[in-house]
Amino acid sequence: MSKTPKTLTPKLVKKLWLAFILLVVMMGVSYIGTTNYFANKHNQETTQRLNADVANHVIAEKFQNASPFLEDGSVNKPLFGDLMHDMMAVNRGIEVYLLNDGGEILYSVVLDPNDKDATKSVSLAPIKSFIADKGEKFILGDDPRNPEEQKIFSAAPYSVDGRNGFVYIVLAGKKFQEVSSTLMGQYFAKLGLGAISLTTVFAALIGLLAIWFLTKNLRVITSTVRRFSEGDLTARIKNPESSDISIFANSFNEMADTITGNIDKMKSVDLLRRELIANVSHDLRTPLAILKGYIETLQMKRDTLSESEKQEYLQITHDNVDKLSKLINQLFEYSKLEAEQVTPVKEPFSITELSHDLIAKFKVLAEQKQIELHIDNPKENNMVFADVSLVERALQNLIENAIKYTEPKGKVTLSLHKKGKNVEINITDTGTGIPVNEQPFIFDRYKQVDESAKKQGSGLGLAIVKKIMELHDTTITVLSKPKEGSSFIFNLPVYQV
Ligand code: ADP
Repeated sequence: MSKTPKTLTPKLVKKLWLAFILLVVMMGVSYIGTTNYFANKHNQETTQRLNADVANHVIAEKFQNASPFLEDGSVNKPLFGDLMHDMMAVNRGIEVYLLNDGGEILYSVVLDPNDKDATKSVSLAPIKSFIADKGEKFILGDDPRNPEEQKIFSAAPYSVDGRNGFVYIVLAGKKFQEVSSTLMGQYFAKLGLGAISLTTVFAALIGLLAIWFLTKNLRVITSTVRRFSEGDLTARIKNPESSDISIFANSFNEMADTITGNIDKMKSVDLLRRELIANVSHDLRTPLAILKGYIETLQMKRDTLSESEKQEYLQITHDNVDKLSKLINQLFEYSKLEAEQVTPVKEPFSITELSHDLIAKFKVLAEQKQIELHIDNPKENNMVFADVSLVERALQNLIENAIKYTEPKGKVTLSLHKKGKNVEINITDTGTGIPVNEQPFIFDRYKQVDESAKKQGSGLGLAIVKKIMELHDTTITVLSKPKEGSSFIFNLPVYQV
């Protein structure tokens, strides 16, 4: 049984899932933390505001009938014991301190007088600020029983028997703290347990859903990549722009296009190579067979053949050797051009002069065929910037073709005209012409319009011309009408001194 391949690794899904749960838990913890902080602050502020006047009441109620100090100047401890008793009956979280005007603690029921480490004074600044603001502001003061902590308090000044000081009441004393922390602990235990189990379940569910959504595009990409790797070269990611990871989707599509393009190119190169080998062997075989036949005849019938027959056979052999060597040269030239082994060596030269030379070279051949070969606009000297030997090769092939495909009494004209930054070179003949449907293919290798033309040429001439044009970053166009003639036109850049 074959397993259906997974589109995403379980590792990735697991990681995403864990990250999601971690995120939710972290958010939960920070939420509980901030809620706790603000709830606590709110609670403290409310308690302080509510009990702001407690210290004033203590002074007004208790110090009216009895002095906080005895006659010997010591603190009236029974009064304070009584006071604390009353207070704690109402609120067990309260702790009362009697301070002198320097903030020194004169007495408190909750402080052990024998404790040498106990705090002896409290800071007066928050107390004074509290009194000045009439208890309207949230202020924290020192806690004598817990020097590291700041507590909410109520305070009021007294002035009795020439002695000044403050009644300082810590509102959330030790008792309050104990009760509060136990309650808080229980509350958090309950909240924590509930919250953790709830968030885990929800995070797991939402996490899975979110991963499914987030990785939707990723799954599409993975399955497409897999299809491609399994040989489906048409596999592409649809609408890559709309993908969440469009760069990746686009890059994959481009990469796939390049790969298939290269494969196509390789296939066509391979096809061309096979075609070339087949054509070459065919082209070489025919003249070779003819050569072999005539040589054998000459050898065998040496004594019976007349002198003129011998001459004729030798001429045929000579022509075929010529043909063979020309074909081999062309093949060599073409394969070099195709393999991009030829780099044009561009230099300034006179295309007019080169044309004159070529016309002179083909004059005899043209005259033999009774063809009028001439150059148009012979006076204007046009300088171009190109590879002289490659341009000469191209022109030679074009003139050769023009003469080859033109009937006696026809005309072949080579014209040169400066057009802007280029010189236009035009080789026109009044020959057979090329059918319109064949025109796009005549520059392909071995393309010959008329099968009988095979006898006249190799079918490589125009392919070589096209390659030379490509090397000069230019193109060649053909204008032709059957039975009227053809024009081959190309441009070369003018050389400006
Ligand atoms: P070939 O060696 O057969 O001439 P080319 O590559 O030079 O090969 O030309 C390809 C084909 O294009 C020729 O076989 C011929 O059919 C056609 N052709 C080329 N030049 C001309 C021309 N001037 N007039 C008519 N046909 C032409």
